[in-house]
Amino acid sequence: MTFVPYAVSWNLTSRCNLNCQHCYIDAGGRAKGVGSELSTGKVCDTIDRIAHLNPGAVLILTGGEPMAREDIYDICSHASKLGLMVVLGTNGTMLSGDTARRLAGAGVMGVGVSIDSLRPEEHDRFRGYDGALKKSIDGLLAARDAGINIQVQTTPTSRNMEEIPLIAEWAHRIGAKVFNLFFLVCTGRGEKMADITPDEYEKILKWAADARESFPGMMIRPKCAPHFKRILHQENPDSHLLKTYIAACRAGTHYCRITPEGNVTPCPYMDNVAGSVVDTDFVSIWNESEGLSRYREPEYEGKCGRCKYRLLCGGCRARALATDGNDMGEDAWCVYEPIGQEEAIVNIDTQSKFGADDESQLEWTKEALDTLGKIPVFARSIVKLGVEKVAREKGIEVVTLEVMRDAAPSPQFMKPPAAQVKKDDAGEKDIPWDDDAKERVANAPEFVRPGIMKLMPIRAKERGVERITSEFLTEIRDESMMLVTRRMKKFGFDNANMGAWDVAKDKMKKSPAKQKVIDQITAMLGGRAGKNEKIMEKFESFFADDVGEKMGWTDGARKRLERAPEMLRPMVKKTVEKYAKENGFKFVTEEAVQGSMDNSPMKMPFK
Ligand code: SF4
Ligand code: SF4
Repeated sequence: MTFVPYAVSWNLTSRCNLNCQHCYIDAGGRAKGVGSELSTGKVCDTIDRIAHLNPGAVLILTGGEPMAREDIYDICSHASKLGLMVVLGTNGTMLSGDTARRLAGAGVMGVGVSIDSLRPEEHDRFRGYDGALKKSIDGLLAARDAGINIQVQTTPTSRNMEEIPLIAEWAHRIGAKVFNLFFLVCTGRGEKMADITPDEYEKILKWAADARESFPGMMIRPKCAPHFKRILHQENPDSHLLKTYIAACRAGTHYCRITPEGNVTPCPYMDNVAGSVVDTDFVSIWNESEGLSRYREPEYEGKCGRCKYRLLCGGCRARALATDGNDMGEDAWCVYEPIGQEEAIVNIDTQSKFGADDESQLEWTKEALDTLGKIPVFARSIVKLGVEKVAREKGIEVVTLEVMRDAAPSPQFMKPPAAQVKKDDAGEKDIPWDDDAKERVANAPEFVRPGIMKLMPIRAKERGVERITSEFLTEIRDESMMLVTRRMKKFGFDNANMGAWDVAKDKMKKSPAKQKVIDQITAMLGGRAGKNEKIMEKFESFFADDVGEKMGWTDGARKRLERAPEMLRPMVKKTVEKYAKENGFKFVTEEAVQGSMDNSPMKMPFK
């Protein structure tokens, strides 16, 4: 099997302006380690080699503090021009409007900032710097306002454990796309700090599993927590999340780390060096080094060796190494106890990691291959495996777009992320509009028209819709109204109330542009009282439906449900909502209803 790096984490420097208690690299001081850092030229050469192995890899540039490197913009720009997805792991304190815009200009797609507590005294104590929390938040917001996707990362300890749901709420409110939970492995300055117990660790992971659908538009991702996959499997063996890259350890199989001096190790928490890019080509290290390849056919020991989840989870190898000096030993933080020698669970996820060859026997049409190429790199091989498995079972020899739609492990995989929908893909020329849909937009207030014209083709492309119809406009409008309903509920309103706009405006103090939009909306609503009645009725129905606590239904989806015999509707509703949730839909849309019907083993009692 060919193993390619999906993600490379690069500690570009040991220099840092903070003094965090748990820093695994033991960074510090503005001058520390500067002499041994790789030059810009060497960094860029190595980036070329990473791109040679996988032009779509995620490159996580971190430190120390990566912004302490003066050449950070050149490095980011070089990597992004090669097609790598560049993400910065930073403490955020050196991000301002200006630096964030420069990063965006250099092609940085995401910025992850660590927030350990929303209580300044706690976060600042943890980070060893007075005022760190405020600076980190300002940095996050600057990145967001520069158009970069933001991620909030929190390291659970006994001091902030109870606060984690609140931090997640807050991260969602400020527009984070991802809330990462980083679990300490006992290395660096964090050596004595892994002060949560295995039971508490399990509790946090279970919270993450339960809360994962609660924040529309924001993912919750436990990092370096392979047990999360075990928990998901225990909860639902068919969960589509089991078919994604999240949480399971990919050290050495699809992931590695480069130190400031150029040493390649399986992951940031392991110091065993597989080679140095100073004297060896990264491609050779990746393909040939025993230091990485040993994790590709692992022989785990202790309970991990007996456990049925050993391929799905496999435990944290860094923790095994740190605990008893054996990287193939058991993960001491796991509460699961295998009964005897259990048979390993093998599914698409484990095949993608360990067992399936990339060589395909099936032919793919260009259209299908293009669509496959748009799927995020970490999910691509799983989707390919899943589609080919189903195609083979059906005796299909050529994979077309239709075959992909039928067979992808989850409809979510068929949707390229918004960031990947190129600007020129969004042009009106690509997706035709029905006349009545155009007319509806022409009648919309002027200030929302350009936004609608831009958004609809993007949504249509994401969903594989071939024409923009009036019904499609209604569907997307309903989704937006449900999002607003959720926000209003969060602001404390329990019915559709014009006062919510004032509260929203108050909360947007830092964004005059958004305040202006709110002024335009309220002026527009105030000037067309008759037309507002319908809108308010709809809002009321979303409030009555408890959108926020429960899943909302778009008009189109509701109409489909109404075709089911009345007696059976509650059961059908439940089945469709379960499907929608598991497949990452924020609301029940017509597409979710269709997907649920297509996937239901029993015949759904309506069309
Ligand atoms: S070995 Fe542990 S710390 Fe390293 S990547 Fe795997 S799960 Fe994460
Ligand atoms: S025993 Fe090892 S492989 Fe099994 S669930 Fe625990 S950490 Fe994972």
